[in-house]
This record gives sequence, structure tokens and C-alpha cells, in this order.
Amino acid sequence: MCGIVGFYGPTTDRATEKLNLLLAKLQNRGPQGAGVVTYDHDGQIHELRGAGSVEAVFDGRNKLDNLPGYMGVGQVRYATFGYTIQPITWIQRGKQAALAHNGEFANAITLRKEAEEMWEYKFQSTSDTEVLIPYLMHSSKDTFRDALLDVLQNKIKGAYSMIILYDGKLYCVRDPHGFRPLALGISENASIVASESSAIEVLGGQYIGDVNPAQLIVIGPSGIIETVEWAEPKPKSCIFEHVYFANPDSYVGGINVSLARDFMGKLMFEEAGWIDADVIVPVLDSGLHAALGFYEATLRYAFQERKNPIPLKAGVHRSWFIGRSFQEGEQIAREILQRIKSNVIAAWVKDKRVIVIDDSLVRGTVMRIIVELMRIAGAREVHVIIPSPPPIAPCAYGIDTYEDELIAARLNGNVHEIQQFIGADSLRYLSLNALYQAVTESASPPVRTTANFCDACYTGQYPVPFEQDRSTKPRRQNMGTQA
Ligand code: SF4
Repeated sequence: MCGIVGFYGPTTDRATEKLNLLLAKLQNRGPQGAGVVTYDHDGQIHELRGAGSVEAVFDGRNKLDNLPGYMGVGQVRYATFGYTIQPITWIQRGKQAALAHNGEFANAITLRKEAEEMWEYKFQSTSDTEVLIPYLMHSSKDTFRDALLDVLQNKIKGAYSMIILYDGKLYCVRDPHGFRPLALGISENASIVASESSAIEVLGGQYIGDVNPAQLIVIGPSGIIETVEWAEPKPKSCIFEHVYFANPDSYVGGINVSLARDFMGKLMFEEAGWIDADVIVPVLDSGLHAALGFYEATLRYAFQERKNPIPLKAGVHRSWFIGRSFQEGEQIAREILQRIKSNVIAAWVKDKRVIVIDDSLVRGTVMRIIVELMRIAGAREVHVIIPSPPPIAPCAYGIDTYEDELIAARLNGNVHEIQQFIGADSLRYLSLNALYQAVTESASPPVRTTANFCDACYTGQYPVPFEQDRSTKPRRQNMGTQA
């Protein structure tokens, strides 16, 4: 998973200041690498990329001055395999271009071989994103816009939200399924593009909508200068964005993420029913919003049934200086980081029957550690609530998971065995139907249908065939080829 941003300001503006803030807000989408490319008044681009957080790459603010220009693109990324931090740059008909991509091309292997054979093209990286470039460079179309549309319509398949900087314009595009989000905003005289709407708000901007599936939006000095519907849209936006990835203060596809998670928690209570317990503890911070919904539902039930309400307490302390452990490449690194990141506060759980709520159970290792820490802290019982279904299949559209890492896939979806693996006294998941209800009814107005979402990691039903065998795909190392 990655986060991408684009900024087009007045010529007096310093894009790098804005890109820095936009990327910092999207750090949740990729803490292990960041890059920006800016474009100045002379048509020159300036680049900065590096491993680590946005703050580390920019060295606080010390490196901002090295990047003049009033417009630019950027990306944050998480570790997959290979080593490519974007934006990728190249020369397109004598002019410098830069590309930031979130997603994964489904036919990258075929296109790569074809480009090598047809043009003896020498790839600079193992990145799936780079396959786009030879096709743009060798296009017979007269303009960059037409070359891009030609490649989108006839070559590239899979998941992509992209922002391309070329010749003083930003080209913003989403694939026909719209797997990955891309929001549009305005701020005074500037145009902003970002994976999530909350990044736009960081700049004091206004979220005005999304780049729609199968849409190309071209941004110039006066804002949006062209909108092209280049294919029939077949929306399949990623439902996992609503469960885990997106910031809770974002709108994804017009749906507020916090509202949807709160609703997941309420529906979780409807499905799980009352559990005799002494305290509810959310796993911060992505489990918080669903835990609040669950807690509210238990309060209402307790009032109706004249039971003692179960208090909600911050029984797991979150260190805010550690990134999202799901995205750390190595298993051992994830486990150590998790112990530093989330510590159990014994004062809230000692001698108690505890309900622990997290947003999802992917590998199970995070929850296993938390349950263990609960036991060490003296909890009498630990009941785990997961207000989303168990992921049983790897993502082929930009989230780097492997089937043999998914606890529900490894244990054939056997909830009892998963419960034993994490060491809990009980384990409950939300059904897929309830997840859909939470997401679709949180839209305002609730117009979307379940058919508009990708749920392949929960069902194994992939909307777009992909050519790479996920079980033999190279494992992530430090930095990644997938966007
Ligand atoms: Fe999202 Fe899962 Fe579909 Fe990947 S497979 S795009 S994580 S819903």
C-alpha cells in the first residue's frame, strides 16, 4: 500500500512545503520510504527520495530548500520487495516526467517482456510501475495526453491510482475498477490531489470529490482543465480501506471512514451478543472507532436489560513514535515493534474479564502478543472481537500479503484454531454482510451497492485476473516494487 499526492500552486508557491505536509498526513499508508519531485519555472524537475519516514527523508524541514518549484508529486510507500521509491522519473520527448503510483499492474510481467523484446528497453528497477514508461515513450500519438490514454485503454491492466507530472500539468487517473482511492481538493489558488481526503484538509483545503474510476483529470494553472472518461467504469473500490488502511478522518469514495468503523462495531455487537466481561479495551489506534461503536451498543443493551454497563478503558497504551507494525517487512521486526508499540496497562485489566477489540486479524501475530501481555498483566479472561471478516486470500491490487502469512488461510478459516493460535478465551468476527452494511449505509446518501467493492481478500473472488503466482512472488525486503 502506498500514498500518493500532487500539488499545483500559484507560481509564487513552494510546492515542496505542501507535499511534505500531504505526505506526512498519509504516513499511515507507507512508513518506510518517501519521495517527491517538484517542477520549477524553467521546466526543470528536482527530486528527493529516501528510506524511512517523511520527516527522516526531508530531514525535518532542512531539505525543503533544495526543491524549488510550484508544483509536484510525491509518494510514501511500505516495504514489499525490490527497492524502488517513487516518484519514478524519465524523459518523454525531451521533457522530464515524474510518476507516483498506488496499486499494482496485473499484467506487468507480460508488458515487461514485450517491452524488452520490442524495443530492447532496459528497465532501471523491478517495479511493476516502470512498465508504463516504455509504452509512453514509444507511443505514436502526438500528445502526451493521447499517449497516456492509448496506454491506459490498450495496455495496462490491474489496480492503479496515478499522478503524473509532465510539461507543467498534473495527469491524475484511476483504473476502471477504482481499487485504490484518489481524492481531489482545492485551497485558495491551489489544486491538491491525494490518496485520502484528510490530507487535503491538512492544507486547509476543501475536498471536492474523487477522481472517478476510468477517469483522467488534467490539472493546469487554472485548476482542472480537462476531464476524460476513457473507459466504462466498473467500480470495485477496496473495502479493506474502510476496515484498516485509510485514516479515520478521511472520506473514501464519499464514505466517512470513522462512521463506517463505528457502525462495524455496532453491528459486531448485534452479531456477537452480550459477553459477560468487566472491561472493553480497544487496540489503538485503528481499533478505536469500531470499539466505540461496540461500546455504545453494549451500553444501550445494558440499559434495556438492566445490566451493569461494561466500561471502555484505554488498557493498551500506544506509543505514537512507532509506525504501523502490519507494514513492517520482517516478521521478527513486526513482533519486536509491536511489543514496543502496544503495552498493556495492568491497572485496567488485572483480575478482569477483558474484551479486546482490534480492526482486523491478518497474520494474528499482533493480537497474539496483546493477549499474551494481557495474561502477564493478570487478566482473568480475554475475549477478542474483530469487527471485520477473516482475510483468506492475498491482495493482488497493491497490498503485499501472502497466503501462507494469513492466519485464516493457514488454518482454513477454522475460528477455534485461530482463537487457540492467539491464545484467547473466545474470538468473534464480523460477517461480510454486516461489513457491507456498515460501509454502504455510512455513505451519505447510502447509494452504493455491494457490487461496487472489491472483497477478494475475504472471498477469493478477484475482479481482475492477475498473472503473478502470489505463492511464488518474491518476498518483501526493505523497499518495494508494488505501489
Ligand atoms: Fe482491498 Fe482486499 Fe480487494 Fe486487495 S483484495 S483491493 S485488500 S478488498
